[in-house]
Amino acid sequence: MSSFKAVLIDKTSGRYVAEYVQMDEAALMPGDVDVDVLYSAINYKDGLAVTGKGPVVRRFPMVPGVDLVARVARSTHDGFAPGEIVVATGCGIGEAHYGGFAQKARLSGDWLVKLPDSLSPARAMTVGTAGLTAMFCVLALERRGLTPEDGPAVVSGASGGVGSFAVALLAKSGWRVAAITGHAAEGDYLKSIGASEILARDDFAKPGKALQLQRFAAGIDAVGGATLANLLSQTQFDGAIAACGNVGGMDLPGSVAPFILRGVALLGVESVRPRIALRRQAWTRIASDLDAGMIDAMCEIIPFDHALERARSIVTGKIRGRVVVEMP
Ligand code: NDP
Repeated sequence: MSSFKAVLIDKTSGRYVAEYVQMDEAALMPGDVDVDVLYSAINYKDGLAVTGKGPVVRRFPMVPGVDLVARVARSTHDGFAPGEIVVATGCGIGEAHYGGFAQKARLSGDWLVKLPDSLSPARAMTVGTAGLTAMFCVLALERRGLTPEDGPAVVSGASGGVGSFAVALLAKSGWRVAAITGHAAEGDYLKSIGASEILARDDFAKPGKALQLQRFAAGIDAVGGATLANLLSQTQFDGAIAACGNVGGMDLPGSVAPFILRGVALLGVESVRPRIALRRQAWTRIASDLDAGMIDAMCEIIPFDHALERARSIVTGKIRGRVVVEMP
């Protein structure tokens, strides 16, 4: 197939356009692995990219889609051979390099991880950047030496993409997990994926005392702002919070007291840069730790023809769970 279907974003004469097009393989960007995309997924970033509502796209034209799982068609990279199934998330795809909203992609092998046999391509896309980020947070806490024997863990933004996977992964590793949510109605869902306790978002939303009751040994924070400051203030001696998100704010209205008086650590987590060894480790753990039924319960599969419309709608309203795009 030299011609294939893709979504292309372009900005010409001040007009921002995202539309389905037929592309030629010759138009693909440089890379040492050609793949046939099997599934992509719709992330908030993809919504920003197709609507132009956020500065996600760093060169035009661009094929969006920051997550993809694909079959290798051709490779000059030592690590990959035709027929292998690979997963790619972040690494600039869908932002600076043509991404997953296309039947074909040409990528650097340095961005790819072979999919563990026990994880199906559709499930890998359900996990996607959100689940990988949650796994990176769990690994950061483990590198810090924290274990479930140290005390309970806490997750903020718990019913969201990152938060749900964080709850499930921590619970699977033996942690007792307190889930902070603004949606009381999601309590049963959060308990079904492993939360032991549900806490109200409002109780963490305003700046509090610099040192508060020590409640948690570890935490994963997708919210930022006052919530992160309060979590640090409620972390016990030598505990840590892995911070990955900012839905509640970019600021950090807190004090250094938890760091210098309790030895608390703030562990920053980002999931975009390749760091391939960490990615391999994370996907292996995801494949072994996440329950297939839990992944499937979060997943809605849509045809590629609906991807553009759904990507546009993600920026206007919350999509529960993960929307996975199946390529024709
Ligand atoms: P979602 O929109 O799926 O989930 C966010 C959750 O946060 C919501 O479901 C809600 O959960 C809670 N929430 C929403 N608004 C607020 C608010 N104003 N104050 C407090 N809580 C709020 O997003 P994701 O899980 O995909 O992403 C979470 C964050 O992580 C984002 O900031 C995202 O940009 C970031 N991220 C960072 C990555 C990285 O590399 N560092 C990678 C991926 C995501 P509830 O109703 O349960 O409270």
